[in-house]
Amino acid sequence: MSRSESPRAVEPAIAPWGPPRAAYVHVPFCRHRCGYCDFTLIAGRDDLIDRYLDALALEIERELPGPVEVDTLFFGGGTPSHLSPDQLARLFGIVGSRISLVPEGECSIEANPLDLDNERLAALVQAGVNRVSIGVQSFQPGELRLLERDHTGIEARDAVRRVRRAIPNVGVDLIFGTPGQSLADWSASLEACLALEPAHVSTYGLTFEKGTSFWSRRERGALRQSPEDLEREMYELAMEQLPAAGVPQYEISNFARPGFECRHNETYWDARSCWAFGPGAASYLGGVRRQNHRSTTTWIARTLTREVAPPALVEELSPEDRAREAAMLGLRRTRGIDSAAFERRFGAAPRSLAGAAFERLVSAGWLEESSGWLRLTREGRCVADTVLMEFLSPL
Ligand code: SF4
Repeated sequence: MSRSESPRAVEPAIAPWGPPRAAYVHVPFCRHRCGYCDFTLIAGRDDLIDRYLDALALEIERELPGPVEVDTLFFGGGTPSHLSPDQLARLFGIVGSRISLVPEGECSIEANPLDLDNERLAALVQAGVNRVSIGVQSFQPGELRLLERDHTGIEARDAVRRVRRAIPNVGVDLIFGTPGQSLADWSASLEACLALEPAHVSTYGLTFEKGTSFWSRRERGALRQSPEDLEREMYELAMEQLPAAGVPQYEISNFARPGFECRHNETYWDARSCWAFGPGAASYLGGVRRQNHRSTTTWIARTLTREVAPPALVEELSPEDRAREAAMLGLRRTRGIDSAAFERRFGAAPRSLAGAAFERLVSAGWLEESSGWLRLTREGRCVADTVLMEFLSPL
């Protein structure tokens, strides 16, 4: 069946995105831009932090005329922990003036190992942060240098232990596929991470994004990308080593001890609404996605002058495209999609969205259906981009 023949999603009676119960705050500051990173951030401009906080207060007031309550609140970056303890206290005060977390809510922050001193930890605890995601990336000295990280493996270990004494829900982010990294090196980083008994582990394959220094270094032959089959072996190793140590996989890139899955990110994979504030942040409200300007300086200037400028991106998906996107996001989770619930919510059966490709993906052993759930197989997770693309735009 071609895309034009595939069943059209019809708008269901109840809005599939639901009322917003999550909020994201983007904090775009870092000490230094790592060579592989293309996130929305500004490095070495701490002089802008106070004006950023002024602008954030204005944006939150403008977007939220009254107080709201959420189940999850996420401070991402950049590096939110780069703010001083006083600036962190101001950040939490600004957000808390309009957004309150339910008593059992999840409040996450992304952090750099070197920032997690006692003063900042006290500011996090005081503000009710109950989940810290630490950007460790590797425990191997050579890899850390190549990735241009500013911490050592020992400092990362210390940070995880110190944070956990104050905030037990600690996640560790790791990168695989660093140039020159062997399978044994990756296994050693996984082991070092598991020895710290984190609640959550995220593993990302290194990507070379246009505009980064890693991209130009690769173009001129100064950096060699890891072979694809080695990267796949590394991913498969993570899928063995982490669950075997009691940290099962629950999403393509994420593993967690039971009960410690990131609830905020589940909002995205479940295609539910979310408020978002700060440069480059993307909200999803009333079925419309809006992204703020990605330049920190432009976002600050426009917000402070109350300039009514159009967002960098406004996207209102058709019911069919909304269903396609929700299928693609839902399949990222290892449990997959409850097909009947999905059809009630999005007006289309998930299998119908892949059109003619569906049977081919099942025959290839990349997709499976059982007891009404559709999911990627373990093999399918290794080629997830290819499989998920068929749901987004089948040929
Ligand atoms: S610390 Fe994180 S967000 Fe900042 S530049 Fe490095 S990778 Fe990017």
